[in-house]
Amino acid sequence: MPTRPQVLEELGIGPEWVRRDRPAVDTSPLALEPGSDLDARAAAVLKMDWLALKACVAACTACPLAPTRTQTVFGVGDEAADWLFVGEGPGAEEDQRGEPFVGQAGRLLDNMLGAIGLKRGDDVYIANVVKCRPPNNRNPEPLEAERCRAFLQRQVDLIRPKLIVALGKVPATNLLGRDATIASLRGSLHEYRGIPLIVTYHPAYLLRNLHDKSKAWEDLCFARDTMAKLKAAAA
Ligand code: URA
Repeated sequence: MPTRPQVLEELGIGPEWVRRDRPAVDTSPLALEPGSDLDARAAAVLKMDWLALKACVAACTACPLAPTRTQTVFGVGDEAADWLFVGEGPGAEEDQRGEPFVGQAGRLLDNMLGAIGLKRGDDVYIANVVKCRPPNNRNPEPLEAERCRAFLQRQVDLIRPKLIVALGKVPATNLLGRDATIASLRGSLHEYRGIPLIVTYHPAYLLRNLHDKSKAWEDLCFARDTMAKLKAAAA
């Protein structure tokens, strides 16, 4: 397993300067080792800054997805965004390119963003429940989502978006912590870590079920109107 300095070097952001009296955030072994105490591991992740979190994700071997990935897919966008869109996990193109939603579903997501006046990277952050590609684009297993959970939690805590949009059942049920159908979750305002959350269809589902695009449009309008209200209330 690469050490933190090796990871930073690999990322082109080394060397890392460390104050003698204060060790840098430790990303290993506690935060990375499979089988380590999950609470302690999550607690370590939940204290990380962006740099440590990115290095920790890049070096993670905590679940069975690690050996089959080309690279981890951390997330992309404005780290102070009002909008956070959350998908399931990287597909084949994302695994190759290291960025979420860059395949066919990603092009639809970009169009969905454009339809409500948003643009990837501009007040928008995009992340996934799991940071490594599940083989054959299957849904992440519960254990894989569990081992990745603290990473998304920390992303949310660092971004502090005004609104989260869960793209499909996998992110919706993982973020809300309960099983439910998309149909039962759409159209209501939910909450994740104190942040309002709206559920809509996953773009890959919409590519296969064109007739549900009008429902996705309703969800996007709901999200746009909710954001306007949240901003008005904060002003
Ligand atoms: N589907 C997802 O859920 N996430 C991606 O990054 C790409 C496709």
